[in-house]
Amino acid sequence: MDFYVSWSHSDPFYQMYDGQCSMLISPTSVTSVWKLTRFSKLPYQLMLDSGSYSYISNNLPLPTPREVFKRQLHILDDCDLPTIICPVDVPMLQKTLSLTERNRAIDKTIANACELKILMKDYSQLGKNSKVRCHPIETMAIVQGYDIASIRYCARQLTEIGYSRFGIGSMAHLYDIKEIKKRVEAVQSVVGSKIHIFGISGIEVMEELRKLGITSVDSARPIKAAIYNEILYSEPYLRVGIAGSRFRADNSKFSADRMVSELSLECPCPVCKNEINNDILKLGIRKYLLLRAVHNYYHIKKMIAD
Ligand SMILES: [Zn+2]
Repeated sequence: MDFYVSWSHSDPFYQMYDGQCSMLISPTSVTSVWKLTRFSKLPYQLMLDSGSYSYISNNLPLPTPREVFKRQLHILDDCDLPTIICPVDVPMLQKTLSLTERNRAIDKTIANACELKILMKDYSQLGKNSKVRCHPIETMAIVQGYDIASIRYCARQLTEIGYSRFGIGSMAHLYDIKEIKKRVEAVQSVVGSKIHIFGISGIEVMEELRKLGITSVDSARPIKAAIYNEILYSEPYLRVGIAGSRFRADNSKFSADRMVSELSLECPCPVCKNEINNDILKLGIRKYLLLRAVHNYYHIKKMIAD
């Protein structure tokens, strides 16, 4: 299973530490002028979603498929990087949505996916006619739904439009692994196992998804854990909290197996370099927060990547 690290402009440059770094960037996580050429080193592969999750959760109107496609191409600029782009899906985040509103969200998700296919066709035609170099872009449709029947319906429609890659959205607010598995299996029953799952923060959930044969997941867990002063280890999986920090013992998402003021494990990650590196425990200094995130990234990827 591929691990895409979700990146925003204040996060560490994970690709400087990992030549095989897969990265997810939302147009909403970077400024409107930001492009990939700002990186001194490109990630290994990239996924550009539409940012729809951020628009909906901030009660903002969604941009059009054309506007988002333009933004995605702007971000890619002149870079020849294998990239997956996503259409503007309509996540159903509010629990108060009526059945009509939910069905409308699914229909809009399908219509937008259809429009991206047309935009892509024009784009590759443009490349053929004007000999302009086109980016190595693949599209990935996002399945939305509120129950098994609606999820299957959406997946079937997206298959008919001609998509062969699929992502499942609206999972970030689902903490119940059984519900997540049910939804994933519903999509798999229509499209097979070539599926990406968006916004998964729990390591246990990632592990379950790997067992289901999922192609890839993305997560911002490395930096989020670092912000919550959590240090992760793989083999065996261990969560260490920094003693004396504002580590929230009551936060079930970020709870530690133990609290420490000094580390005792040598770590093979690119920032610890086979040593016991107590620098990643230092609080309140951005440099060490970023190093902690890279350390966490290394271990999460090791735990779930093939
Ligand atoms: Zn380390």
